[in-house]
Amino acid sequence: MRPQILFPLFADIDTLKGVGARIRPALAKIGGPLVRDVAFTLPHGLIRRRRTTAAGAIEGEIGIFEIQIDQHIPSRKPGQPYKVRGFDETGWVHLVYFKTYGDSLTKSLPVGARRVISGKVERYGSEVQIPHPDFAVLPERAGDIPISEPVYPAGGGLSSRQVRRFVTEALVQTPTLPEWQDPAWLAKQAWPGWRAALDTVHQPRAETDLEVTTPARKRLAYDELLAHQLALAQRKRARRRLTAPVLTSGPLSAQLQSALPFSLTGAQGRALSEIRADLASGARMGRLLQGDVGSGKTAVALLAMAAAVDSGFQAALMAPTEILARQHHERLAPMFAEAGIDCVLLVGRDKGAARLRALSGLANGSTPVVIGTHALFQEAVRFANLGLAIVDEQHRFGVAQRNLLQAKAGSGEGGAHLLTMSATPIPRTLELTQYGYLDVSRLDEKPPGRQSITTSVLPMDRTEAVLDRLAQVIDAGAQAYWICPLVAENVEIDLASAEARAVALKARFGDRVGLIHGQMPGPEREAVMAAFARNDLSLLVATTVVEVGVDVPNATIMIIEQAERFGLAQLHQLRGRVGRGEGKSACVLLYDPPLGQVAQARLEVVRGTEDGFLIAEQDWAMRGGGDPLGLKQAGLPAYRFADPVAHRELLLAAADDARIHLARDPDFSSQRGQALTVLTELFDWKPDRTDQPD
Ligand code: ADP
Ligand code: MG
Repeated sequence: MRPQILFPLFADIDTLKGVGARIRPALAKIGGPLVRDVAFTLPHGLIRRRRTTAAGAIEGEIGIFEIQIDQHIPSRKPGQPYKVRGFDETGWVHLVYFKTYGDSLTKSLPVGARRVISGKVERYGSEVQIPHPDFAVLPERAGDIPISEPVYPAGGGLSSRQVRRFVTEALVQTPTLPEWQDPAWLAKQAWPGWRAALDTVHQPRAETDLEVTTPARKRLAYDELLAHQLALAQRKRARRRLTAPVLTSGPLSAQLQSALPFSLTGAQGRALSEIRADLASGARMGRLLQGDVGSGKTAVALLAMAAAVDSGFQAALMAPTEILARQHHERLAPMFAEAGIDCVLLVGRDKGAARLRALSGLANGSTPVVIGTHALFQEAVRFANLGLAIVDEQHRFGVAQRNLLQAKAGSGEGGAHLLTMSATPIPRTLELTQYGYLDVSRLDEKPPGRQSITTSVLPMDRTEAVLDRLAQVIDAGAQAYWICPLVAENVEIDLASAEARAVALKARFGDRVGLIHGQMPGPEREAVMAAFARNDLSLLVATTVVEVGVDVPNATIMIIEQAERFGLAQLHQLRGRVGRGEGKSACVLLYDPPLGQVAQARLEVVRGTEDGFLIAEQDWAMRGGGDPLGLKQAGLPAYRFADPVAHRELLLAAADDARIHLARDPDFSSQRGQALTVLTELFDWKPDRTDQPD
């Protein structure tokens, strides 16, 4: 329940003076529907005014002039401005109005009167012009013109100054709230109290006051991050309170583990024990297994499924593409079969008797394991007793699909455990903001014997040399990927150039060149992919469809065209397609010169390391405040004060703070706990804002 002290902040903005039916929609769009939202709308700029004269005025500055009105010069033709001429002791100043205000202007600026005016200075030769002055007041009211004035977002007919007025109103309604931060931490940071901090960020006096690193801004950012981390931690606790079947590993787990042609890496072993502890706990698992391409997530998934089957429950593994589902099935089904366990494949194209058999096996429980695609979400798919659902490459599933999965897994009491797996290494900060409600295991160690991949960065005009080298390795029996970009805004052009590239490569390498891209019908695409996997093709020209976990160990060369157009994580994942077998592998990043400094540094990061987590951290840090890779889309919350890049340390601290607080005071009954309740209610993070299943 919302504490009473917050009521004024949660009042509708139409309670603000001057906000009626006409203004409300525009203000709601800029700030939000609540008084709080307007109080939290920050200035993004600062107008600085300078007292000056006709002679001393500088083009572009906002000048304050004291003038005497000399003459009104109405426009003679439509399109011509209405001018008011004035002067000071150094020369003429022309006030220029492009909308005709004739009548009101003769009243407000009568000839002979003295006025103090302010506005942006334009100079035409010797003539000083002020188009649409922002102030024109009597000399005795000159003090009304602020020397510095914060600039607020404007729009929908609302000017920055109007928005500022409403912000000021909202601040008047904003109460002082109980201190929710730890006093020692506050003192150490030398941060102001919340209310004072909020006032401060609305009163910038210099450009530096607008930065995200001021004490006031950091204070507010920390509050916001802490509120979010607390909400996520509470969601995690709520999930852990749900029960789920107790799944313990038994003979099947042991048999499968010893049937693996390798022993688990340390990281796999750690992840597996974390998962096994969850599965045996009786509480609902919600765990993310993060591991770079090739880090061996499948084996961990296999042994997790074994625990379910050992305990008499069913397990489902879902992959985002048919190719991937088939590959998993081809690998895992024989191992299960060896142990007498039925493991079926369920993909979209299945029809007829086989599908019906699979469905009935799942419904009556005689089939313990299923591997499939989105087809598993279909209404017709029923489980007798699903104990564990695993989602591979979880980010490839849409939000709606993930919700369907959650429903399938049973979201109430006794629902299934959920393990999601991702090969996209994300920085720790993003992990906290995006998946803070999940438990996370990381595979930060590669299986032994992996060949390192030699990566080089070359301009496109070196393509001929690359082709010569490619010819040599292909003659020697190697296989290669040639990746072309395909981006949504540019599909037609990109597709054409991928096709052109395939034609050119065919001219050189003949029939052993194949092309796959995302616009191709699934079956056709799969046929080409299968031909490449069988080594019927030496060179596969592909757009990024090849990105997802397909494994062709004989492929040792990866060439990526226009590498500068890819995200770093994407480049890293693409590169992960090679280096999977015995042979030495290489990756060539071809770029279209000239390359900007940042672009160059980005490619250099990928060249310099094969550590996906490191690449993710650096990519993140280089991104600065912008959002070129659509992180918002990736589920980054819309923070008002916090900037997860600039405030990285604060975010890490807030995550610890939240975790420690919940362990100490899970019911928020201490004094700080009660104040923290006000904080979480103030920010009001709703679990569905991340749109992810538990
Ligand atoms: P990913 O994490 O990308 O899904 P996979 O599970 O497909 O990785 O594993 C990649 C390759 O590594 C597979 O060929 C798999 O058999 C092999 N592998 C997995 N774990 C180990 C290990 N501990 N030792 C050696 N090879 C392993
Ligand atoms: Mg995989």
